[in-house]
Amino acid sequence: MAKTTGPSATFCFQDFLTSFVVLAENGVIEWYNSAAAGTLVGKNGRGRLFSEMLAEAAKFGTISKTAVGRIIAGIETGSTTFRLEDARTFLLHSHVSKSSIYVEWTDISSVFSDAGGRDPTTGLFTRREFLVVIDNLLAQNSARHFIFDLRLDNFKDVNELFGHAVGDHLLRRVSERISGQIRIAEARLAHVGGGEFLFVATEDEALPLTEVLLDLLSRPHLVDGKMVYPTVSMGVAIADGSNAETVLRNASLALKKARAEGGNQAVTFTTEMHEAMQRKRMLETELRKALAMRELSLVYQPQFRVKGRRLVGFEALLRWNHPDHGSVSPAEFIPLAEELGLILPIGEWVLRTACRKAASWPPGISISVNISPLQFRSTTIVSSVKTALENSGLDPRRLDLEVTEGAILMNSAPIMETFRQLKAIGVRFSMDDFGTGYSSLSYLQKFPFDKIKIDQSFVRSLSANRDSLAIIRSVCALGKTLGLTTIAEGVETEEQMSQIEKKGCQQVQGYLTGRPLAPDVADRLVASSA
Ligand code: C2E
Ligand code: CA
Ligand code: CA
Repeated sequence: MAKTTGPSATFCFQDFLTSFVVLAENGVIEWYNSAAAGTLVGKNGRGRLFSEMLAEAAKFGTISKTAVGRIIAGIETGSTTFRLEDARTFLLHSHVSKSSIYVEWTDISSVFSDAGGRDPTTGLFTRREFLVVIDNLLAQNSARHFIFDLRLDNFKDVNELFGHAVGDHLLRRVSERISGQIRIAEARLAHVGGGEFLFVATEDEALPLTEVLLDLLSRPHLVDGKMVYPTVSMGVAIADGSNAETVLRNASLALKKARAEGGNQAVTFTTEMHEAMQRKRMLETELRKALAMRELSLVYQPQFRVKGRRLVGFEALLRWNHPDHGSVSPAEFIPLAEELGLILPIGEWVLRTACRKAASWPPGISISVNISPLQFRSTTIVSSVKTALENSGLDPRRLDLEVTEGAILMNSAPIMETFRQLKAIGVRFSMDDFGTGYSSLSYLQKFPFDKIKIDQSFVRSLSANRDSLAIIRSVCALGKTLGLTTIAEGVETEEQMSQIEKKGCQQVQGYLTGRPLAPDVADRLVASSA
C-alpha cells in the first residue's frame, strides 16, 4: 500500500474508501490518500499535475474534457462522473477552498452495473445512484445543499391523452430544462420514474431555482407538434446530518404536501411534517385495534324542526377515545380508516349501534348515519344496512343515510342500484355537506334524495358574506320544488337561526340547539320532548 502523505499526523486516511487528492493552486498534487493511489494517482503522484492524470482518464473514459478543465482550474465546486479504462465508474466531487483544491471520488461501479445504471428515457441517474450522490454530499460536510423532489402534476394525463411517446419526450424536455438551471447537472439530477425527478442544489441556488423552475416548467412544452401544459410540484429538504434515505424521505413528504394542497407549488420540509407522519403511523396501528378494544363510541346530535323547535331526530357521530392519546377527531381518523380499509367494519359497527339506539326511541324520532364514500360503493353496503335494521327491529323509514357527493361522483350503474335497493326497503337519503362539491344540482335530480343538508360553511359565513344568504335561500327554494326537506348544519347563534328560518329552511342541527350528546343524555332529551 502506498505511503499516505499528509501535513499532520492526526490524519489517518487509510481506512477511507473514498479517494482524494489535495491540490495546490497550480494544480500540483500536494497529498493524497491510499485509495487514490489505487485508482487515478498511482504510487508517485506527489508533485505531479493532477490534470494530466485526469486527462489520461478522460481519453478512455466518459469524463468530458471541459469537466476536467473546470475541475482543475478550480472554477467551481461540483460533481461529475468518470469512467476508467477498466470500466470502473467514479463519482467525483471537487471543492475549491482558499488556497487549495480538494478533489475526491468514489467507486460507484456497482450502481452502474445493470443496464448501464441509467434511466433509459432520460439518460439520467436513477434513484439508487442518486442516493450515492447524496451520501457523498453528506459525508463531505461542506456547504449546505438542498434536495428537490420534483413531480409533474399531470403526467399521467399527458400519457393517457397523447400516448407514451409524447410522455417520454416531455420527460426529456423537463430534464433539459432542469439541467439548464443547475451547475454540473449530470451528477446532480436523477429521474426516478413517472414524471418525477430528484436533484441537488446549493444553498445559493435553491431559492431562485424554485421560482425559476415553477415558472419554466409550467410554460407550454411543444412536444411532437402538440402543446402540453404541465404544472409541477416540488418538495424541498435540506441535506443535513441525517442519512441519504432520510433526506430523500423528507423531500418526498414535502412533495406530498405540495400535491395535497393542489400542486403547482413548492413546499419545504419541516419537522412538523415528520411529526404528522409519525402521528399518522401511530394512529394507523392504534386504529386497527380500536374496534376490538371498544374504544369507539357514538354520540348523538339532535335535529329539530325550525318551526316550534320540535325534536325530529339525531345524527350519529363517531368518537374515538384512545387510552393514551385521548380523543381523536373523526375528521382525522375517518380518512385514515378509509385508507386502511377499516371503514367497512367500523361503518358496520356504527350502523348496528345507531339502529339499536334509535329503535329504543319513539317512532317520530329518526336516526341519521354517515356513510363514507368507500363504504357506500362497497358491495356489502346493502346487506350491512339490512342486517342492522333486522337485528334492531328499527323501521327502515326512520333510518336516514347521509352521503356526500364524493360517494356518487361516478354516476355508475352499481351506485344507482344501491340507491334503488335501499329505497325499496324504505331507507331515506340525505345529501351531506351540500354546496361544497360541484354539480350538486344534477345529482339531486338523478338520485333519490329525501333531504339536503346545507353545509356549515354557508351558515358560518352568513353575516360576512351576502352570497351565503343567497345560496341558502335558493337551496331552500330548490328543496321545496323538488319536494326535499332542507336542514341547516352548524347553526350556533340566534342570528343565524332567524336567518335560515326566514329563508325557508325547515330543520336545524347545530350547537345552538344541541351539541352531540352521550347516549344516555340523548335518551333523556328524547324522554323530555315526548
Ligand atoms: P359531518 O357529517 O358534517 O358532521 C357534522 C360535524 O359538525 C360534526 O363534527 C359535528 O360535531 C359538527 N357540528 C355540529 N354542529 C356544529 C356547530 O354548530 N358548530 C360547529 N363548529 N360544529 C358543529 P364531528 O363529530 O367532529 O364529525 C366530523 C366529520 O366526521 C363528520 O362531518 C363526518 O364527515 C365524519 N364522521 C363522523 N362520524 C362518522 C361516522 O360514523 N361515519 C363516517 N363515515 N363519518 C363520520
Ligand atoms: Ca353528516
Ligand atoms: Ca355535514
